Amino acid sequence: MSIEITNVGKRFGSFVALDDVSVSIPSGQLTALLGPSGGGKSTLLRIIAGLEQADTGRVEIEGVDATNLPPQKRNVGFVFQHYAAFKHLSVRRNVAFGLEIRRRPKAEIRERVDELLALVHLEQFADRLPAQLSGGQRQRMALARALAVEPTVLLLDEPFGALDAKVRKELRDWLRRLHDEVHVTTVFVTHDQEEALEVADEIVVINEGRIEQIGSPDELYDAPANDFVMRFLGPVT
Ligand code: ADP
Ligand code: MG
Repeated sequence: MSIEITNVGKRFGSFVALDDVSVSIPSGQLTALLGPSGGGKSTLLRIIAGLEQADTGRVEIEGVDATNLPPQKRNVGFVFQHYAAFKHLSVRRNVAFGLEIRRRPKAEIRERVDELLALVHLEQFADRLPAQLSGGQRQRMALARALAVEPTVLLLDEPFGALDAKVRKELRDWLRRLHDEVHVTTVFVTHDQEEALEVADEIVVINEGRIEQIGSPDELYDAPANDFVMRFLGPVT
């Protein structure tokens, strides 16, 4: 079981955003989509999420052909760079939202949300409003909210991109620990080489709509597939 992307192509007008992309993302893995800005990372993530339709090819999620399924039928959770929290709702209600609209029993929601808030260490902030959290805490809330409905797949698009370097590093370690506890299949978009190398089990390097290399951080380091990968990984400081 996995996410299977087969021969996916996507154009915007005459511009080729994704050119015959095939990649297999194993279940339970933390995978980074890494590449320079404009390379097609977000487009591929949005196609996995169902927020964008591929022109050609096929997307399979955990054995189900998802190519033509709408986002709400794909059982995916998302976290974006600029996470749109409900400003007037408490942290608790923000995390509970996906469960409330699914009309889960109140006691079950309460228990699940307590569990999630503990997981992201926000128990003591449950009754605050999102505006009363720091940027890093808000992204942790976003992670809890995305995990609430027990998605098969968690998709993150530059989730820490808007934060300062120190908080980014904290959240990076933090995502790794969270993933080690929850083991949900996770695809994580970043243009930051160091972030991908430190966090991911496997890295998919994308540039100009094509996959340059797929491999573990060690494999990318020890045997870059081509000059692009070698230059892009560069000396990591
Ligand atoms: P990345 O996330 O790697 O920075 P994107 O997937 O967002 O790259 O974009 C890849 C290319 O496709 C970029 O050149 C971008 O301008 C273009 N693109 C993305 N979405 C659209 C769109 N809705 N309309 C036109 N061009 C788009
Ligand atoms: Mg992007």
